[in-house]
Amino acid sequence: MTETLRLGTATTRTQTKLLLLGSGELGKEVAIEAQRLGVYVVACDRYDNAPAMQVAHARYVFPMLDAARLREVIEAEKPDFVVPEIEAIATDTLVALEAAGVRVIPTARAARLTMNREGIRRLAAEELGLRTSEYRFAETEQEYRAALREVGLPAVVKPVMSSSGMGQSSLLANASEEQIATAWRYAQSGARGGGGRVIVEGFVDFDYEITLLTVRHAAGTSFCAPIGHRQVQGDYHESWQPQPMSAAAEAEAERMARAVTDALGGRGLFGVEFFVRGDQVWFSEVSPRPHDTGMVTMISQDLSEFALHVRAILGLPIPNIAQHGPSASHVVLGDGQSDAPVFHVDPAALTAPDTALRLFGKPEVRGHRRLGVGLARGATLEEARAKATAVARGVRVELS
Ligand code: AMP
Repeated sequence: MTETLRLGTATTRTQTKLLLLGSGELGKEVAIEAQRLGVYVVACDRYDNAPAMQVAHARYVFPMLDAARLREVIEAEKPDFVVPEIEAIATDTLVALEAAGVRVIPTARAARLTMNREGIRRLAAEELGLRTSEYRFAETEQEYRAALREVGLPAVVKPVMSSSGMGQSSLLANASEEQIATAWRYAQSGARGGGGRVIVEGFVDFDYEITLLTVRHAAGTSFCAPIGHRQVQGDYHESWQPQPMSAAAEAEAERMARAVTDALGGRGLFGVEFFVRGDQVWFSEVSPRPHDTGMVTMISQDLSEFALHVRAILGLPIPNIAQHGPSASHVVLGDGQSDAPVFHVDPAALTAPDTALRLFGKPEVRGHRRLGVGLARGATLEEARAKATAVARGVRVELS
């Protein structure tokens, strides 16, 4: 007999414990998948009743950037696995705890490098030699202007610490002095912690962009079918799978995804993002955890990206990833203020076969927020996208 894997029973002295850092909609699905294997789940986030907390055994409310509290909670809980769900975490503390024997998924270094666009960009472009957009980093407005001159217009400006399009601007080839100044100020306001450092990237005129979900597990590395997606103001709006690609482009994306995930190491699922034009592929960034565009896998695959993550974390085998054909996801957004959102669901869209709706259960909305996702399969990608969009549009969000 081969060596067995030990899993305990949640709530008993034998339990296997997984602690989530960040408890949003992606963490919620990871928690559910862990629960399905009898794993004890502890969910942490900065606000109470965050989505994953609602399906966890225990919860802690504190900012993930609070290093002292983070250490305290991990030392008190002694989890078997610490699973980051967001980027903004006191990752130096994770590095220190890992050195002391705590298991961080996939590795503390991966969490630290990907928290800051500079870490991962320098690893991918300068150490691994992967093709990326042109880029420069800048700390001051003067450096920013020099960076723009070197990279040239059109360009994209982003805070090094940000996600979901926060603080990000695109500057067209004919951008005015005023727009250049505004992009700098916007990047300063959108930065999450860590001050005003920005990356100036040359604009890549791509045909399409993909997320290549890549899972490092006990027996090697597996890839999901490529996921195409559409971003609005730097934030995921719609995704679909499989994105049609040339064999050469797909092979190149897989080669680059393997290189970057091997360099980050550990076990778990990664979302590796690429821009594609013809057979040319540019590495953009990587999340060492499930990716928002990968929510489509909740309907497109036997094992969703969340199930794959949990299987990889626990050391369970992943012999194959069955894909069910053209599938899509479309976000349900809310915009306003509420501490008790209501969803008015038009049943018409959900009467179409092979459709699904997820509502995340976020108890508070302040401004623009992703609150759910419509999912669908279809005979073609066009049909799947139309159905997923109809499901999402069929939900009217009432914020009061
Ligand atoms: P990011 O937060 O870096 O993933 O950027 C969000 C989105 O902005 C990407 O998914 C692209 O749609 C777009 N974008 C970012 N960087 C570039 C670039 N250098 N060239 C063209 N589009 C970009």
